[in-house]
Amino acid sequence: MTDDRLLALLDGTLADPAVPLVRAGDLGLMRGDGVFETVLVEHAVPRELDAHLDRLARSAALLGLPPPDPAAWRRCVAAAVAGWGRPDELSLTLVCTRGTAPDGTATTAFAYGIPVSPRRRQLRRTGVAALSLERGLDPGLVGRAPWLLHGVKSLSYAVNMAATRYVEEQGADDAIFTAPDGTVLEGPTSTVVVAHGDVLRTTPASLGVLPGTTQAALFAAAEAAGWQVRTEPISAADLHAADGVFLTSAGHKVTRVHTLDGTRLRDSSALAAHLARLLESRYPNRAVHSCN
Ligand code: PLP
Repeated sequence: MTDDRLLALLDGTLADPAVPLVRAGDLGLMRGDGVFETVLVEHAVPRELDAHLDRLARSAALLGLPPPDPAAWRRCVAAAVAGWGRPDELSLTLVCTRGTAPDGTATTAFAYGIPVSPRRRQLRRTGVAALSLERGLDPGLVGRAPWLLHGVKSLSYAVNMAATRYVEEQGADDAIFTAPDGTVLEGPTSTVVVAHGDVLRTTPASLGVLPGTTQAALFAAAEAAGWQVRTEPISAADLHAADGVFLTSAGHKVTRVHTLDGTRLRDSSALAAHLARLLESRYPNRAVHSCN
């Protein structure tokens, strides 16, 4: 395949990404009513696929969509991986919308892949300047108001994309959402991880953040290597006092935050490289290559 886009279907076939697939009226388009996952495929390995499929199922359940068929998704991902045939990392987004029937009996599902962008790869190397942005919702609401879909990977990501554009307009690279009391939540497309001494911390899902597959993979590798790992609330002051602040996601891998709200943070480049190596150690295939 020479195209740098790829479209795979749940029956395990590839389709032409230039040919329209979704109908006008699809509730995923009309209302952002659907769920997605973005899986990093590197050296033909779809990383953390089990965790991504589990999270897809959890998101679908919270939207009242039918449970995704894991075998069909695996077939679809396998077709995408086999059809990629390029050396670049593939960012593979699995999409399931409510489709054209409100009762979820005619869902639309596909996987769409593109190369990881050069900018994302560059930011992994340089680190990012981040701005903290208020998300404006009391984390206590999460349990009381499940309809807000906090911590769910729904297709309604316009707010997250707007936050990213906003910080870029201000000359920064990424955002960190905070609660009204200053508690650190997550990035628009990433999990926040903080290192202090031999402890790695991240925000608990109970505060309405998406449980990160990359963060979980990093914590598993770090714990095996002797780090303590904790899921507990993080304050803004903790970010400034930390040995390192990192954003993790399938695309970010482990990206350090070098500047927060215009203030330079402690230099964590060596720590970032160490954590990136720990993460890569889960994918042995990768050990002989660079981390970026
Ligand atoms: N939090 C949000 C809001 C996200 O959108 C993402 C990924 O896109 C993450 C966290 C990190 O998740 P993962 O590590 O599974 O990519």
